[in-house]
Amino acid sequence: MTEPTLSIIAPVYNEAESLPTLVKRLREILQTVEVSWELLLIDDGSRDRSAEIMRSLAAEDPRVRPVIFARNFGHQIAVTAGLDYSRGRAVVIIDADLQDPPEVIVEMLARWREGYEVVYGVRTDREGESWFKLFTASLFYRLIYRITDVTIPLDSGDFRLLDRKVVDVLNQMRERHRFLRGMSAWVGFRQIGVPYSRAKRFAGETKYPFKKMLRFASDAITGFSYFPLQLATYLGFLSAGISILAIPVVIVLRASGSQAFLGQATTLIAVLFLGGVQLISLGILGEYLGRLYDQVKGRPLYIVREIPEPLKQIR
Ligand code: UDP
Ligand code: MG
Repeated sequence: MTEPTLSIIAPVYNEAESLPTLVKRLREILQTVEVSWELLLIDDGSRDRSAEIMRSLAAEDPRVRPVIFARNFGHQIAVTAGLDYSRGRAVVIIDADLQDPPEVIVEMLARWREGYEVVYGVRTDREGESWFKLFTASLFYRLIYRITDVTIPLDSGDFRLLDRKVVDVLNQMRERHRFLRGMSAWVGFRQIGVPYSRAKRFAGETKYPFKKMLRFASDAITGFSYFPLQLATYLGFLSAGISILAIPVVIVLRASGSQAFLGQATTLIAVLFLGGVQLISLGILGEYLGRLYDQVKGRPLYIVREIPEPLKQIR
């Protein structure tokens, strides 16, 4: 079987209702650009009929290639598996819920043919998302932008096209706690954004509840910044500075017979404040240490349970 020009990767977690439409819309749009393609559907341990539907979609069209995980490993890991299995000269990552309009791929391909190696989608507006999601997302992107060493384009998601050269580099970066949009900025190459408006979810609910969003944010921050670790140093200098200044002040106040700073409350507040700061700093250390430990264990990033036929033959 010859290698396709374009690989499309869609991570899937309980998206049974969206899958047939996703495949249909991709097929229609790719017909217009006349490239050979494959669609890698990564089933990230779905509990609904996603895997079953994938098998039947693959049976109908050999360009559809499911990879089925043994359990849920998370969105970023599912995309990683897609990158590992992709064979195209260009690779597009797209959400399975049709929030990233497949039509934008045409423009991404045009940019790629102009010589750009990373073409990322920039969300100009987002339909049907809660104000909370919009607010936290905007805060997150701006925070990441300020405290990390890589320039991650504002409001770009994982919807992007990567040249084979970029995919090969990313495939060598086997970090467990992954923030792919950061990693694909970090590698360099010629990059450009294409604006698009993010659609509503086709069906179902978001698979990113608040807890997962927090974990995602802390993976992004710890993966690309030492700022939280340095925070302890800054706070240490700050409180040491304040106490040095306070010594002469208190001496003068006492000598002049003032009653200020007498009593337990002041002491208690100072002790609790510093205790809190120390515990938070320890927690931050723990975040990095835990990730370090995970990495050192060197377990595989994901476990594949099943690869329905056609794909198996080529790997
Ligand atoms: N997803 C996944 N594993 C997970 C969570 C999500 O593969 O543990 C997939 C999901 O099926 C979708 C994409 O990742 O295709 C983006 O997730 P979602 O649409 O829920 O995120 P949102 O768009 O709400 O940020
Ligand atoms: Mg979505």
